[in-house]
Amino acid sequence: MSTFKALVVRKTETGQSVAIEQWTDADLMEGDVTVRVSHSTVNYKDGLALTGKAPVVRRWPMVPGIDAAGIVETSSHPDFRPGDAVVLNGWGTGETHLGAYAQKTRVKGDWLVPLPAGLTAAEAMAIGTAGYTAMLSVLALERHGLKPSDGPIVVTGAVGGVGSVAIALLSTAGWHVIASTGRSAEADYLKALGAAEVIDRAELSGPARPLGKERWIAGIDSVGSHTLANLLAMTRYGGAIAACGLAQGMDLPSSVAPFILRGVSLLGIDSVMCPKPRRLEAWARLARELDKRKLAALTSTISFDQLPETVAAIMAGTIRGRVVVEIG
Ligand code: NDP
Repeated sequence: MSTFKALVVRKTETGQSVAIEQWTDADLMEGDVTVRVSHSTVNYKDGLALTGKAPVVRRWPMVPGIDAAGIVETSSHPDFRPGDAVVLNGWGTGETHLGAYAQKTRVKGDWLVPLPAGLTAAEAMAIGTAGYTAMLSVLALERHGLKPSDGPIVVTGAVGGVGSVAIALLSTAGWHVIASTGRSAEADYLKALGAAEVIDRAELSGPARPLGKERWIAGIDSVGSHTLANLLAMTRYGGAIAACGLAQGMDLPSSVAPFILRGVSLLGIDSVMCPKPRRLEAWARLARELDKRKLAALTSTISFDQLPETVAAIMAGTIRGRVVVEIG
Protein backbone atom coordinates (compact mmCIF):
# COMPACT_ATOMS: atom_id res chain seq x y z
CA MET A 1 0.00 0.00 0.00
CA SER A 2 1.97 3.06 -1.15
CA THR A 3 -0.76 5.53 -0.30
CA PHE A 4 -3.64 5.10 2.13
CA LYS A 5 -6.83 6.92 3.05
CA ALA A 6 -6.83 9.24 6.09
CA LEU A 7 -9.50 11.52 7.55
CA VAL A 8 -7.51 14.65 8.32
CA VAL A 9 -8.44 17.62 10.49
CA ARG A 10 -6.50 20.80 9.73
CA LYS A 11 -6.47 24.10 11.58
CA THR A 12 -7.84 27.03 9.57
CA GLU A 13 -8.14 30.76 10.25
CA THR A 14 -11.81 30.31 11.13
CA GLY A 15 -11.61 27.01 12.99
CA GLN A 16 -10.82 23.65 11.43
CA SER A 17 -11.39 21.73 8.17
CA VAL A 18 -12.05 18.01 7.73
CA ALA A 19 -11.23 16.08 4.52
CA ILE A 20 -10.31 12.59 3.36
CA GLU A 21 -6.72 12.70 2.02
CA GLN A 22 -4.29 10.20 0.49
CA TRP A 23 -1.26 9.85 2.79
CA THR A 24 1.99 7.88 2.69
CA ASP A 25 4.06 6.28 5.47
CA ALA A 26 6.13 9.49 5.58
CA ASP A 27 3.09 11.32 7.00
CA LEU A 28 2.89 9.01 10.02
CA MET A 29 4.36 9.84 13.42
CA GLU A 30 7.18 8.05 15.20
CA GLY A 31 6.60 4.67 16.76
CA ASP A 32 8.02 1.15 16.79
CA VAL A 33 4.91 -0.58 15.37
CA THR A 34 3.03 0.21 12.17
CA VAL A 35 -0.52 -1.14 12.12
CA ARG A 36 -2.78 -1.64 9.12
CA VAL A 37 -6.09 -0.48 10.62
CA SER A 38 -9.10 -2.60 9.70
CA HIS A 39 -11.73 -1.21 12.09
CA SER A 40 -12.35 1.74 14.36
CA THR A 41 -15.34 3.22 16.15
CA VAL A 42 -17.00 6.52 17.05
CA ASN A 43 -16.72 7.71 20.64
CA TYR A 44 -18.08 10.97 22.07
CA LYS A 45 -14.48 12.23 22.25
CA ASP A 46 -14.03 11.55 18.53
CA GLY A 47 -17.09 13.73 17.97
CA LEU A 48 -15.51 16.52 19.99
CA ALA A 49 -12.26 16.20 17.99
CA LEU A 50 -13.93 16.21 14.57
CA THR A 51 -16.30 19.08 15.33
CA GLY A 52 -13.80 21.12 17.36
CA LYS A 53 -16.43 21.60 20.10
CA ALA A 54 -13.79 20.95 22.77
CA PRO A 55 -10.00 21.25 22.53
CA VAL A 56 -9.39 17.51 22.13
CA VAL A 57 -6.96 17.95 19.20
CA ARG A 58 -3.59 19.23 20.39
CA ARG A 59 -1.45 18.50 17.29
CA TRP A 60 -2.08 19.67 13.71
CA PRO A 61 -2.82 18.22 11.27
CA MET A 62 -4.61 15.44 13.16
CA VAL A 63 -6.17 12.13 12.22
CA PRO A 64 -8.87 11.64 14.89
CA GLY A 65 -9.93 8.23 16.19
CA ILE A 66 -9.03 7.04 19.68
CA ASP A 67 -9.64 3.32 19.00
CA ALA A 68 -8.12 1.02 16.39
CA ALA A 69 -8.06 -2.67 15.61
CA GLY A 70 -5.83 -4.08 12.91
CA ILE A 71 -2.85 -6.13 11.88
CA VAL A 72 0.80 -5.34 12.58
CA GLU A 73 2.61 -4.49 9.34
CA THR A 74 6.11 -3.77 10.71
CA SER A 75 7.48 -3.89 14.24
CA SER A 76 10.75 -3.39 16.09
CA HIS A 77 8.96 -3.93 19.44
CA PRO A 78 9.82 -7.26 21.10
CA ASP A 79 6.16 -8.13 21.83
CA PHE A 80 4.77 -7.74 18.30
CA ARG A 81 5.48 -9.32 14.91
CA PRO A 82 4.07 -8.64 11.43
CA GLY A 83 0.68 -10.36 11.14
CA ASP A 84 -0.25 -10.00 14.83
CA ALA A 85 -3.82 -8.82 15.48
CA VAL A 86 -3.83 -5.86 17.90
CA VAL A 87 -6.10 -3.34 19.62
CA LEU A 88 -5.29 0.27 20.49
CA ASN A 89 -7.27 2.47 22.92
CA GLY A 90 -6.32 5.95 24.04
CA TRP A 91 -2.78 6.94 25.06
CA GLY A 92 -3.43 10.26 23.27
CA THR A 93 -4.20 8.80 19.84
CA GLY A 94 -6.57 11.16 18.04
CA GLU A 95 -5.50 13.90 20.48
CA THR A 96 -1.71 14.33 20.49
CA HIS A 97 -0.80 11.33 18.29
CA LEU A 98 -2.24 10.55 14.81
CA GLY A 99 -5.23 8.28 15.38
CA ALA A 100 -7.37 5.53 13.92
CA TYR A 101 -9.34 7.19 11.10
CA ALA A 102 -6.65 6.20 8.59
CA GLN A 103 -5.82 2.88 6.99
CA LYS A 104 -2.45 2.95 8.78
CA THR A 105 -1.15 4.21 12.08
CA ARG A 106 2.31 4.08 13.66
CA VAL A 107 2.43 3.94 17.45
CA LYS A 108 4.45 2.79 20.46
CA GLY A 109 4.17 -0.96 20.83
CA ASP A 110 3.74 -0.42 24.58
CA TRP A 111 0.32 1.10 23.79
CA LEU A 112 -0.97 -2.01 22.01
CA VAL A 113 -2.72 -5.03 23.44
CA PRO A 114 -3.15 -8.28 21.52
CA LEU A 115 -6.63 -8.78 20.09
CA PRO A 116 -8.22 -10.84 22.89
CA ALA A 117 -8.86 -14.50 22.03
CA GLY A 118 -12.51 -14.99 21.13
CA LEU A 119 -13.06 -11.49 19.72
CA THR A 120 -12.94 -10.37 16.09
CA ALA A 121 -11.46 -6.96 15.21
CA ALA A 122 -15.00 -5.70 14.53
CA GLU A 123 -16.22 -6.94 17.93
CA ALA A 124 -13.25 -5.31 19.68
CA MET A 125 -14.23 -2.01 18.08
CA ALA A 126 -17.90 -2.55 18.91
CA ILE A 127 -16.62 -2.59 22.49
CA GLY A 128 -14.01 0.15 21.92
CA THR A 129 -13.03 2.71 24.53
CA ALA A 130 -16.65 3.04 25.68
CA GLY A 131 -17.00 -0.67 26.44
CA TYR A 132 -13.52 -1.00 27.90
CA THR A 133 -14.36 1.99 30.16
CA ALA A 134 -17.57 0.24 31.22
CA MET A 135 -15.45 -2.77 32.21
CA LEU A 136 -12.91 -0.57 34.05
CA SER A 137 -15.88 0.78 36.01
CA VAL A 138 -17.12 -2.73 36.84
CA LEU A 139 -13.60 -3.69 37.98
CA ALA A 140 -13.41 -0.59 40.23
CA LEU A 141 -16.75 -1.44 41.88
CA GLU A 142 -15.61 -5.03 42.39
CA ARG A 143 -12.32 -3.86 43.95
CA HIS A 144 -14.49 -1.84 46.32
CA GLY A 145 -16.04 -5.15 47.36
CA LEU A 146 -19.47 -4.64 45.80
CA LYS A 147 -21.45 -7.56 44.38
CA PRO A 148 -24.94 -8.11 42.90
CA SER A 149 -26.40 -9.42 46.18
CA ASP A 150 -25.62 -6.05 47.86
CA GLY A 151 -28.44 -4.25 46.04
CA PRO A 152 -29.36 -2.49 42.77
CA ILE A 153 -26.94 -0.61 40.52
CA VAL A 154 -27.78 2.52 38.51
CA VAL A 155 -26.35 3.19 35.03
CA THR A 156 -26.71 6.70 33.57
CA GLY A 157 -26.43 7.68 29.89
CA ALA A 158 -27.97 4.26 29.43
CA VAL A 159 -28.60 4.32 25.66
CA GLY A 160 -25.06 5.66 25.00
CA GLY A 161 -21.96 3.55 24.38
CA VAL A 162 -20.62 3.25 27.94
CA GLY A 163 -24.13 2.81 29.32
CA SER A 164 -25.22 0.11 26.86
CA VAL A 165 -22.12 -2.05 27.40
CA ALA A 166 -22.29 -1.51 31.18
CA ILE A 167 -25.91 -2.74 31.27
CA ALA A 168 -25.05 -5.82 29.19
CA LEU A 169 -22.10 -6.69 31.46
CA LEU A 170 -23.85 -6.02 34.77
CA SER A 171 -27.07 -7.85 33.95
CA THR A 172 -25.14 -10.94 32.82
CA ALA A 173 -23.23 -10.81 36.12
CA GLY A 174 -26.55 -10.88 38.02
CA TRP A 175 -26.97 -7.23 39.00
CA HIS A 176 -30.42 -5.61 39.26
CA VAL A 177 -29.76 -2.76 36.81
CA ILE A 178 -31.63 0.57 36.95
CA ALA A 179 -31.08 2.31 33.60
CA SER A 180 -31.41 6.10 33.48
CA THR A 181 -32.16 7.58 30.06
CA GLY A 182 -33.62 10.64 28.35
CA ARG A 183 -34.95 8.38 25.59
CA SER A 184 -38.00 6.58 26.98
CA ALA A 185 -38.71 5.23 23.48
CA GLU A 186 -35.61 3.03 23.92
CA ALA A 187 -36.97 1.25 27.03
CA ASP A 188 -37.40 -2.04 25.13
CA TYR A 189 -33.81 -1.82 23.85
CA LEU A 190 -32.54 -1.28 27.42
CA LYS A 191 -34.63 -4.16 28.79
CA ALA A 192 -33.34 -6.45 26.02
CA LEU A 193 -29.80 -5.58 27.16
CA GLY A 194 -30.78 -6.62 30.68
CA ALA A 195 -32.07 -3.50 32.47
CA ALA A 196 -34.55 -4.47 35.21
CA GLU A 197 -35.91 -0.90 35.53
CA VAL A 198 -35.78 2.14 33.25
CA ILE A 199 -36.05 5.61 34.80
CA ASP A 200 -36.26 9.08 33.22
CA ARG A 201 -32.96 10.94 33.46
CA ALA A 202 -34.95 14.08 34.40
CA GLU A 203 -35.33 12.47 37.88
CA LEU A 204 -31.56 12.93 38.33
CA SER A 205 -30.62 15.95 36.24
CA GLY A 206 -31.73 18.81 38.56
CA PRO A 207 -29.83 20.22 41.56
CA ALA A 208 -29.20 17.56 44.23
CA ARG A 209 -30.05 17.71 47.94
CA PRO A 210 -27.13 16.73 50.23
CA LEU A 211 -28.82 13.38 50.93
CA GLY A 212 -31.79 11.69 49.28
CA LYS A 213 -33.70 8.42 49.58
CA GLU A 214 -31.25 5.49 49.38
CA ARG A 215 -32.00 3.86 46.03
CA TRP A 216 -28.89 1.89 44.96
CA ILE A 217 -25.66 0.46 46.35
CA ALA A 218 -23.57 1.21 43.24
CA GLY A 219 -23.56 3.15 40.01
CA ILE A 220 -21.74 3.73 36.72
CA ASP A 221 -22.07 7.36 35.67
CA SER A 222 -21.11 8.72 32.25
CA VAL A 223 -23.02 11.98 32.75
CA GLY A 224 -21.38 13.99 35.60
CA SER A 225 -22.72 17.33 36.91
CA HIS A 226 -26.09 17.31 38.79
CA THR A 227 -26.70 13.71 37.74
CA LEU A 228 -23.56 12.48 39.51
CA ALA A 229 -24.44 14.64 42.55
CA ASN A 230 -27.88 12.99 42.71
CA LEU A 231 -26.40 9.52 42.29
CA LEU A 232 -24.12 10.13 45.28
CA ALA A 233 -26.95 11.56 47.39
CA MET A 234 -29.11 8.48 46.68
CA THR A 235 -26.44 5.81 47.26
CA ARG A 236 -26.97 3.39 50.14
CA TYR A 237 -24.62 3.25 53.13
CA GLY A 238 -21.13 1.99 52.11
CA GLY A 239 -21.85 2.03 48.39
CA ALA A 240 -19.82 3.51 45.54
CA ILE A 241 -20.26 5.30 42.23
CA ALA A 242 -17.77 4.89 39.38
CA ALA A 243 -17.55 8.25 37.57
CA CYS A 244 -16.30 8.05 33.99
CA GLY A 245 -18.03 10.75 31.93
CA LEU A 246 -19.33 14.27 31.55
CA ALA A 247 -22.22 14.14 29.05
CA GLN A 248 -24.23 16.58 31.20
CA GLY A 249 -21.23 18.59 32.42
CA MET A 250 -17.78 18.56 33.97
CA ASP A 251 -18.93 20.21 37.21
CA LEU A 252 -19.92 18.31 40.34
CA PRO A 253 -22.37 20.41 42.41
CA SER A 254 -22.41 18.04 45.37
CA SER A 255 -21.72 18.11 49.11
CA VAL A 256 -19.58 15.94 51.37
CA ALA A 257 -22.72 14.56 53.06
CA PRO A 258 -22.82 11.20 51.18
CA PHE A 259 -19.13 10.64 51.98
CA ILE A 260 -19.11 11.54 55.68
CA LEU A 261 -22.63 10.44 56.68
CA ARG A 262 -23.09 7.29 54.56
CA GLY A 263 -19.49 6.26 53.82
CA VAL A 264 -20.18 6.49 50.09
CA SER A 265 -17.15 6.39 47.76
CA LEU A 266 -16.57 8.12 44.44
CA LEU A 267 -14.34 6.04 42.17
CA GLY A 268 -12.59 7.84 39.30
CA ILE A 269 -12.23 6.00 35.99
CA ASP A 270 -9.71 6.95 33.31
CA SER A 271 -9.26 4.83 30.20
CA VAL A 272 -6.65 6.92 28.37
CA MET A 273 -3.58 6.45 30.56
CA CYS A 274 -4.79 3.31 32.34
CA PRO A 275 -1.76 1.04 33.00
CA LYS A 276 -1.35 -1.99 30.75
CA PRO A 277 -1.99 -4.76 33.32
CA ARG A 278 -5.44 -3.35 34.07
CA ARG A 279 -6.16 -2.94 30.33
CA LEU A 280 -5.28 -6.58 29.75
CA GLU A 281 -7.50 -7.60 32.67
CA ALA A 282 -10.40 -5.51 31.30
CA TRP A 283 -10.07 -6.90 27.78
CA ALA A 284 -9.79 -10.49 29.02
CA ARG A 285 -12.96 -10.05 31.11
CA LEU A 286 -14.78 -8.43 28.16
CA ALA A 287 -13.83 -11.31 25.85
CA ARG A 288 -15.05 -13.84 28.44
CA GLU A 289 -18.11 -12.16 29.90
CA LEU A 290 -19.75 -9.83 27.39
CA ASP A 291 -22.73 -11.61 25.80
CA LYS A 292 -22.03 -11.61 22.03
CA ARG A 293 -25.73 -11.45 21.17
CA LYS A 294 -26.15 -8.36 23.33
CA LEU A 295 -23.00 -6.85 21.79
CA ALA A 296 -24.47 -7.42 18.31
CA ALA A 297 -27.78 -5.87 19.42
CA LEU A 298 -26.12 -2.67 20.59
CA THR A 299 -23.83 -2.29 17.53
CA SER A 300 -24.30 -0.70 14.13
CA THR A 301 -21.68 -0.61 11.34
CA ILE A 302 -20.74 2.24 9.01
CA SER A 303 -18.24 2.79 6.19
CA PHE A 304 -15.28 5.19 6.36
CA ASP A 305 -17.20 7.71 4.23
CA GLN A 306 -20.11 7.82 6.72
CA LEU A 307 -17.86 9.09 9.54
CA PRO A 308 -18.78 12.82 9.31
CA GLU A 309 -22.57 12.22 9.50
CA THR A 310 -22.14 9.68 12.31
CA VAL A 311 -20.01 12.10 14.28
CA ALA A 312 -22.77 14.70 13.94
CA ALA A 313 -25.24 12.12 15.29
CA ILE A 314 -23.14 11.27 18.36
CA MET A 315 -22.84 14.98 19.16
CA ALA A 316 -26.62 15.31 18.81
CA GLY A 317 -27.08 12.38 21.23
CA THR A 318 -29.00 10.30 18.71
CA ILE A 319 -26.63 7.32 18.43
CA ARG A 320 -27.84 4.15 20.13
CA GLY A 321 -25.14 1.96 21.65
CA ARG A 322 -21.94 1.56 19.67
CA VAL A 323 -20.80 2.13 16.08
CA VAL A 324 -18.12 0.13 14.23
CA VAL A 325 -16.29 1.90 11.38
CA GLU A 326 -14.91 -0.26 8.57
CA ILE A 327 -11.56 1.38 7.82
CA GLY A 328 -9.47 -1.18 5.93
P1 NDP B 1 -22.46 8.54 24.06
O1 NDP B 1 -22.65 9.82 23.34
O2 NDP B 1 -22.58 7.26 23.33
O3 NDP B 1 -23.48 8.46 25.30
C1 NDP B 1 -23.69 9.53 26.18
C2 NDP B 1 -25.09 9.40 26.74
O4 NDP B 1 -25.23 10.35 27.79
C3 NDP B 1 -26.20 9.75 25.75
O5 NDP B 1 -26.53 8.66 24.95
C4 NDP B 1 -27.31 10.13 26.70
O6 NDP B 1 -27.92 8.94 27.18
C5 NDP B 1 -26.58 10.76 27.88
N1 NDP B 1 -26.61 12.24 27.82
C6 NDP B 1 -26.22 13.03 26.80
N2 NDP B 1 -26.40 14.33 27.11
C7 NDP B 1 -26.91 14.35 28.37
C8 NDP B 1 -27.32 15.39 29.24
N3 NDP B 1 -27.22 16.69 28.90
N4 NDP B 1 -27.80 15.05 30.45
C9 NDP B 1 -27.90 13.76 30.83
N5 NDP B 1 -27.54 12.73 30.04
C10 NDP B 1 -27.05 13.03 28.83
O7 NDP B 1 -21.03 8.65 24.75
P2 NDP B 1 -20.13 7.49 25.39
O8 NDP B 1 -21.00 6.48 26.05
O9 NDP B 1 -19.12 7.05 24.41
O10 NDP B 1 -19.37 8.33 26.51
C11 NDP B 1 -20.11 8.80 27.63
C12 NDP B 1 -19.27 9.76 28.45
O11 NDP B 1 -18.15 9.08 28.99
C13 NDP B 1 -18.70 10.94 27.64
O12 NDP B 1 -18.75 12.09 28.45
C14 NDP B 1 -17.28 10.52 27.38
O13 NDP B 1 -16.45 11.62 27.17
C15 NDP B 1 -16.96 9.76 28.65
N6 NDP B 1 -15.91 8.77 28.51
C16 NDP B 1 -14.88 8.80 29.40
C17 NDP B 1 -13.90 7.88 29.37
C18 NDP B 1 -12.85 7.88 30.41
O14 NDP B 1 -11.72 7.43 30.17
N7 NDP B 1 -13.15 8.34 31.60
C19 NDP B 1 -13.82 6.88 28.29
C20 NDP B 1 -15.00 6.86 27.43
C21 NDP B 1 -15.99 7.81 27.55
P3 NDP B 1 -29.52 8.75 27.15
O15 NDP B 1 -29.94 9.09 25.76
O16 NDP B 1 -29.73 7.33 27.51
O17 NDP B 1 -30.07 9.72 28.17
